[in-house]
Amino acid sequence: MKILFAASECVPFAKAGGLGDVVGALPKALRALGHDVRVVIPRYGSIPTYSLERLSAPLGVPLGTGTAWCGVLTTTLPDSDVPIYFIEHDEVFGGTKIYGGEEGTRWGLARTGVLSRGALELCRYLDFMPDVIHVHDWPTSWIPVMLNTCEQSYFPKTATILTIHNMAYQPRFPVEGLELLELGHEYFRGDGLEDFGQLNPFKGGLYHSTMITTVSPSYSQEIRTPKGGRGLHQVMEFRGADLLGILNGIDTSVWNPATDPYIAENYHAGDLRGKAACKASLQKEMGLKVDSSAPLLGVISRMTEQKGLDVVVETIPGLVAKGAQLAVLGSGDAYLENRFRQLAAEYPGQVGAWMGYNESLAHKIEAGVDLFLMPSRFEPCGLNQMYSQRYGTLPIVHATGGLDDTVDQFDPATGEGTGFKLWNVSPAALENTVSWAMDVFRSHKPLFETMQRRAMGLPLGWDTAADRYLQAYDWAMERKN
Ligand code: ADP
Repeated sequence: MKILFAASECVPFAKAGGLGDVVGALPKALRALGHDVRVVIPRYGSIPTYSLERLSAPLGVPLGTGTAWCGVLTTTLPDSDVPIYFIEHDEVFGGTKIYGGEEGTRWGLARTGVLSRGALELCRYLDFMPDVIHVHDWPTSWIPVMLNTCEQSYFPKTATILTIHNMAYQPRFPVEGLELLELGHEYFRGDGLEDFGQLNPFKGGLYHSTMITTVSPSYSQEIRTPKGGRGLHQVMEFRGADLLGILNGIDTSVWNPATDPYIAENYHAGDLRGKAACKASLQKEMGLKVDSSAPLLGVISRMTEQKGLDVVVETIPGLVAKGAQLAVLGSGDAYLENRFRQLAAEYPGQVGAWMGYNESLAHKIEAGVDLFLMPSRFEPCGLNQMYSQRYGTLPIVHATGGLDDTVDQFDPATGEGTGFKLWNVSPAALENTVSWAMDVFRSHKPLFETMQRRAMGLPLGWDTAADRYLQAYDWAMERKN
């Protein structure tokens, strides 16, 4: 099967969140199953070009206002022979930011328009006719619309799959954008791109894609409700028969405590001594008191309201009073960043905060902490709770979306489970659940260790997901044809 991934992120070149992890890993799993998979993303200013090969001819991307002439650079995804292509256009992709400032602007429209139409032009340029184009969230959602309209004649048999990574991000654009994207006014309709008088590419993509997937079975249900659908629940209900929830995997070669080069000592389920060394090293690095008996909690997150970190902030004084330590890594909302900095200043030796993006520290926290906090208000899939389990770090999660699907609640009667769940996101619920987990950590060590080993043995790789995506591609191709 010939598959093109068109996306705004791909690890390790450009990552803002879980979408980038998926686009960096799933193509490799599909390639290993024998498929011809290729990836296309923008060449942001932050992506160095010295190790990329530049293709000689420029790529002309038609826009209503003329042709956007782009460069094309290429390499392969690390440890694979999956080709990745970068579309280069300094005016629209040149900055270092992946997202920000698109909403309502001509620049935002041009940016995602050049990426989407550029991905299709690239197929012509490479003489690559995909059976399936797999697009991700709103930035490449123009593609399914284009394939049903201005590009229909060139790609009559190509099916599209739109994966929803997060329904919360839905920039809208003025209707004049139709000209720029060469889409006729007849496509500005309620069952398409139109949303309260503006263009909503996500909505258009959801109506026009052959099939839709989202990153967990629970989230596929939640987005059909007014609360989870972010204004598009009726679209999701309408397309319910074409919507699948497929849990993300994780890249088990990158996230593996037995080989992880970032952590103080490697370890595995059969021998957890290295984890204790990782804890001590992390405590030192984050200015915490080196104490193996203190329950060490971890957070690695975008600092947004979604992640429930305002609630974490409120519970810290109470948890610290009970002897907990906290290691936080994150970036985003300035208010939340400052609150964590303040807590670190207020509780030296018990709270450590590092604000910014730091890949190696993320690995050290996953390996070094005992319990991981993820009380997200909603979570389409979530990766950190899976990384945690792989590192024998027990997650404490809100029972929502992918968090609910990937963490098994601890059952004191049987000793089963791999983590702890709360059923509403409130300071009281979080503090109670964390206190319970801390009690298991302190007073029921053998049980805690059994859970750690069980969590570390879970099959979290991409194999299952890759099989399910292939099934979805098959169905989509059948439908399309
Ligand atoms: P989301 O996509 O909503 O941000 P996920 O849990 O799906 O949440 O994915 C988050 C990814 O980003 C994980 O790989 C996590 O380790 C990483 N991450 C988030 N914040 C940081 C940070 N400040 N430093 C390093 N990695 C981070």
